[in-house]
Amino acid sequence: MLPYGRQSIDPEDIAAVEAALRSDWLTTGPEVDRFEAAVAARAGVDHAVSVTSGTAALHVAYAAAGIEPGDEVVTTPLTFAATAATAALLGAKIVFADVDPATGNLDPAAAEAAVTSRTRVVAGVDYAGVPVDAPALQDLAARKDLLFLEDAAHSIGSTLDGKPVGSLADLTTYSFFPTKNLTTAEGGAVVTADEELAARARAFKNHGLVRDRSLQRTPDEGPWHQEVHSFGLNYRLPDVLSALGTSQLTRLDAFVARRAEVKKAYDEALGDLDGVEIPFAPEGAAPAWHLYPLRVPAERRRAIFDSLREQGIGVQVNYIPAYWHPVFEDLGYQRGMCPVAEDYYRREISLPMFPSLTDADVESVIAATRKAVGA
Ligand SMILES: *Cc1c(COP(=O)(O)O)cnc(C)c1O
Repeated sequence: MLPYGRQSIDPEDIAAVEAALRSDWLTTGPEVDRFEAAVAARAGVDHAVSVTSGTAALHVAYAAAGIEPGDEVVTTPLTFAATAATAALLGAKIVFADVDPATGNLDPAAAEAAVTSRTRVVAGVDYAGVPVDAPALQDLAARKDLLFLEDAAHSIGSTLDGKPVGSLADLTTYSFFPTKNLTTAEGGAVVTADEELAARARAFKNHGLVRDRSLQRTPDEGPWHQEVHSFGLNYRLPDVLSALGTSQLTRLDAFVARRAEVKKAYDEALGDLDGVEIPFAPEGAAPAWHLYPLRVPAERRRAIFDSLREQGIGVQVNYIPAYWHPVFEDLGYQRGMCPVAEDYYRREISLPMFPSLTDADVESVIAATRKAVGA
């Protein structure tokens, strides 16, 4: 079965990991600093805080934003549950706002209508790699005195109006899971231009520990002394995985370029099919296509999906609306709340999309898809 997403590991990646394994540092060493500097440079901001997953990155970002019980977070339902779950774990009430039918990204007007006096964060997702309407959401955040968080699990390598994803929001989170645009096996990062947010993110990912003597309450306790100033967790990405990330980052542009070629080939072969909608990117957006979300008639989605799987094409569906998960249903969230996102979900099938797809793979996906939709 051809998977829908897959990592690309080359001999240099393996050599980088091996070198880290032979070094004095398996974790909390120089490879972490190198990777963070490279991620920050790529994002076009001063601060990158590496963590153990994209989920950890979201948890850390919401904690840095100061989310606490009683706060509200406005977000999109067309995402993996973690975008909402990590804020809910900090006590936030999640308010889902509907998406733009063209991109599947959070609709700024719907987000604005969902804002109340308790809203602290508006969190968009760059669905499939297409940057969310960051200027509109940043403007909303500024007017309402909120923070704008961009879940960029799909979009490291994407740009909007020439600016890299990572520089568009107050806080941006990446995932480095194997199917994402680059991988550290498990891993993630929070990037920000704001020094204070970065410091709070760093504290939360490392037990809230303060080692700087000038900031300690009882610095004369002894040379062994360290203090916990706030509750935190251990979300530290090891050197071994950071070394893999630094090596992968050198090939990000090549990964993005191949994804664009695959996108173009699918578009050209499938764009003319009846009832089929190919993915859309707005003017100014240069997406790193993490997914290829094809939309087909809702009443035929299941049959087309099953046909593709039977033909050896490992398609996926991204995503069931987040509030359909029983954990939200049990809190009283009702189906029908965000009809545009639900319509998007009902029609969506993600075709295989990863840099090591060969031209022959692409041709077989196209042939199988045309057959499945009956073209
Ligand atoms: C993958 C993903 C996450 C979570 O990342 P992990 O590294 O798997 O924890 C969060 N949000 C979105 C949109 C994702 O696709």
